Amino acid sequence: MIRTAYAVININALAHNVQQVRLAAPNSKIMAVIKANAYGHGLLRIAHALDGLVDGFAVARVQEGVRLRKAGLQQRIVVLEGFTEHDELHDLLHYDLEASLHSPHQLEILKNTSNAKRLGVWVKLDTGMNRLGFKAHEISDVYKQLSACEVVKKPFNFMTHFANADDKNDSKTAQQIALFHQWTANYDGEKSMANSAGILAWKDSLTDWVRAGVMLFGISPFADSTGEFVGLQPLMSLHSRLIAVRDVAAGETVGYGDTWTSSHDTKLGVVAIGYGDGYPRYAQNGTPVLVNGERVPLVGRVSMDMITVDLGLTSTAKAGDSVTLWGENLPVEEIAICSNTIPYTLVCGITPRVEIVESEHS
Ligand SMILES: *Cc1c(COP(=O)(O)O)cnc(C)c1O
Repeated sequence: MIRTAYAVININALAHNVQQVRLAAPNSKIMAVIKANAYGHGLLRIAHALDGLVDGFAVARVQEGVRLRKAGLQQRIVVLEGFTEHDELHDLLHYDLEASLHSPHQLEILKNTSNAKRLGVWVKLDTGMNRLGFKAHEISDVYKQLSACEVVKKPFNFMTHFANADDKNDSKTAQQIALFHQWTANYDGEKSMANSAGILAWKDSLTDWVRAGVMLFGISPFADSTGEFVGLQPLMSLHSRLIAVRDVAAGETVGYGDTWTSSHDTKLGVVAIGYGDGYPRYAQNGTPVLVNGERVPLVGRVSMDMITVDLGLTSTAKAGDSVTLWGENLPVEEIAICSNTIPYTLVCGITPRVEIVESEHS
């Protein structure tokens, strides 16, 4: 079958990227964060490939954890958003999933639950993200209440999350690290702080467990570098093909809204990919696209199923030729900058229409 829009996942790169996490955090256990369909790479594909390479998994939602258990994965699995309803707590217990505990609402549910099983808990501390978690003055009370909950496994664990770790010059991360150490010094249990940016840039944040997300997929957590630059190998590349090559005269416009007017006579390539596949609609004029391995600029607005590129007057490209939207020689980090977003949203945003193919070449 001829493939139109498809993503290739280089599954072998995972082992290399896990090794980079081990090198950066040699004394920590690795929790692989594979929420949001493993950042668009396929939850079960990635979980099976990581089985035996990492020490545990983290997901955002209960259902994601249940899928992992049903697929036979046996490592510890932490649900980062925890639970909001009784039924979710029941599933956590039934499937032996651990939960982030971040609110008094959850404490009430725990108090009113009795079960033969015990729930592994990660108390989330709000050291400055101000999204989820408890503040300093709440901790001793939470500790007392949790200690009294029969359904909670003892000792429970502690985690926090960074707001600005991707900015190596921001002083907030050092403050968050100091607060976390201070707040948890007198408590047993495992501790976890670092995300990918913490692992690579903030050595003081390396504790019992690190939570590696985006770097596992070979993507840099920093805006000013690519995965390759920080020693990682990207997993995903996105491809399609030209479906038409047309002549455009100087002065003609292309696409919805006439956002581009050709300054020259040229050949226009029409590529079968658009925001309906997850290619970013806000990619600007000039965003690089590889046609037969050569960089050409995106021109005109991204539509649902197609984009248009300026092939140049002397181009020999023709319908059927291959196109790469990101991948080798075209880092997804670069496309993110051209689209005023972050690479996380690009890989997460691949839609079900895009066929996913695995490659084992490195
Ligand atoms: C998503 C997430 C991570 C992983 O972050 P990366 O930047 O992808 O490494 C770690 N911890 C929490 C709480 C998260 O939500």
